[in-house]
Amino acid sequence: MRVRDLPLSAALVDHFESRGIEELYPPQAAAVEAGVTEGERLVAAVPTASGKTLIAELAMLTADGPGLYIVPLRALAREKYETFSELPGVSVGISTGDFDEAGEDLGENDVVVATSEKVDSAIRNGADWIADLACVVVDEVHLVGSEGRGPTLEVTLATLQRRAPGVCIVALSATVANPEEIADWLDAELIQSTWRPVDLRTGVYAEGSATFDDGTELAPTIAGDPEDATDATDALVSGAVDDGGQALAFVRSRREAETLAERLAGSGLGSAPDVASEIRDLDGTETGRRLADCVDDGVAFHHAGLRSTHRIAVERAFRDRTLRVICATPTLAAGVNVPARRVVVRDQRRYTGSGMEWLPTLEVHQMCGRAGRPHLDPYGEAVLVGDASTRDELWERYVDADPERVESQLADPNALRTHVLSVVASEFAASREGILDVLDATFYAHGTPTRELGSVVDTAVADLVEMGMIAEGASLSATDLGDRVSKQYVTPETGARIVAGLRTAAGMDAPTALTALEIVCDTPDMQDTYLGNRERADMYDFARRHADEFTTGMNETADFEGWLTAVKTARVLHGWVEGASAADLVERFRIGPGDLESRIERAAWLLGAADAIAGAVEADADLPFRDLRARL
Ligand code: ADP
Repeated sequence: MRVRDLPLSAALVDHFESRGIEELYPPQAAAVEAGVTEGERLVAAVPTASGKTLIAELAMLTADGPGLYIVPLRALAREKYETFSELPGVSVGISTGDFDEAGEDLGENDVVVATSEKVDSAIRNGADWIADLACVVVDEVHLVGSEGRGPTLEVTLATLQRRAPGVCIVALSATVANPEEIADWLDAELIQSTWRPVDLRTGVYAEGSATFDDGTELAPTIAGDPEDATDATDALVSGAVDDGGQALAFVRSRREAETLAERLAGSGLGSAPDVASEIRDLDGTETGRRLADCVDDGVAFHHAGLRSTHRIAVERAFRDRTLRVICATPTLAAGVNVPARRVVVRDQRRYTGSGMEWLPTLEVHQMCGRAGRPHLDPYGEAVLVGDASTRDELWERYVDADPERVESQLADPNALRTHVLSVVASEFAASREGILDVLDATFYAHGTPTRELGSVVDTAVADLVEMGMIAEGASLSATDLGDRVSKQYVTPETGARIVAGLRTAAGMDAPTALTALEIVCDTPDMQDTYLGNRERADMYDFARRHADEFTTGMNETADFEGWLTAVKTARVLHGWVEGASAADLVERFRIGPGDLESRIERAAWLLGAADAIAGAVEADADLPFRDLRARL
């Protein structure tokens, strides 16, 4: 099937053809046969690089009205925004910033790219453009199974269909164990395929050689110890680069990513001085300098502690082949498009709170799926590095095994409370039955008996009544507080923490900026900041010296460690508003520049929310939320 034969304008056909897209890939042809250009709903569960973007474009370009493309991550939103902006005659909008704007002018675009949080927030705030949508594409729909974002995604898809009845839905998924359940939930046809434009072989390395699932073998030239995972990784990465390819190496932690990159940078694999100086110019942090030093030699590290501008520079330079190697934490696997000839997974386990745990099969498959660049590599290769004792386990767990099933996480009480409040506050429902009716369109309800659903909803409603966010009368309604919490896009737990903080502060002699920062940093919506052992004593001392500025007494809290972490975040942010430089704070508090960036952003959002919530609480503590937000 040819692009020419599709119901697209001549300009669009030219656009695709000029990018080498003339004949449809098999999954794309299957999508057209299933009616993607005629408004039919579908779920495409196909591998990375098999052309899902074109399926999405066909759905949105042929729809009878505006299209929305929902992504899980901001970095992906940017990438898709750039891709769609190149389409001739198509206006594109993007929505990824603040969590609390309705973004009315987005409705003027043909295509809007947004994160699921942003769409959820727009629905809660009653944005008009949602009702006009003709087509919604959900990227990485398998993430409905992820703990953090999954519930938001499924509730968003449920409420979206209420605001825009009859909207066409196209969902793109990684290869998972139960795509038919997702398709059934969305009332969509399933396109399932294992086809890839470039062959992929996956194998396990142990004791000097790798064996692949296609029966081939590879014995890299190892300078060091063949039993040592890092020596083997070095050899596998260097081998791919010597053959003219690029390599991605996955390790378990940020520190490991940096250490491996610094080691590989000494191996003469390449050079990228222009990118290095671009990175040097971005900021003067120690991390930035170290990254630039590696990039000078054609190697980069990539993890969540980097500033987003650093990550963007690294991704871009890798895509245009200036960089030869990226050493990354697993977060890169789920993110943007950075294919390489060879993927080396050195670590398959990572630390959790309780010890080392194997990575999920799906996550490792996504890393491996990055191997093989269409038009550039003859094949892709993924190697899991093990030893004699782990060889069989790696093979069983990741090479032979199917990925996990996608399971709803909405039953989690925190998630459910958040969404029950939002359903009531947005006036989707004013009764228990009404809530159940809205939730009936979630993936959770799809697989859960109604009776069970009824009982978890009852618990959530009772909790929210107790928190003063829902009022029970002839019908259910959100209180002023509940309404503000929902519109500000914070969780009920965060709302409750802010309310408690405001009440305590009202009874304090002289609450300060630190008081306000402690309140917002101690909420579940602020990320934890790592507190090392060496810093602990100093932080304890700081907390003691400022005890009269905090709303939590040092002897009162059930989770002292968690609170001390919040104190650290508050202290860092206080330093920032007082004028300390990023380089200074990063060094002094041993955090990544990206951590500082994301905490500043979150704090700005939470301070805004606290300011709004204060309006619904009688206690008048007069905390400087607004002023702090401006100074951030
Ligand atoms: P994914 O499934 O990972 O989203 P993409 O849609 O990004 O994959 O496609 C991967 C690459 O394949 C892109 O560079 C894209 O331009 C190219 N591509 C997609 N469809 C075709 C096609 N029918 N013919 C040739 N190249 C294609």
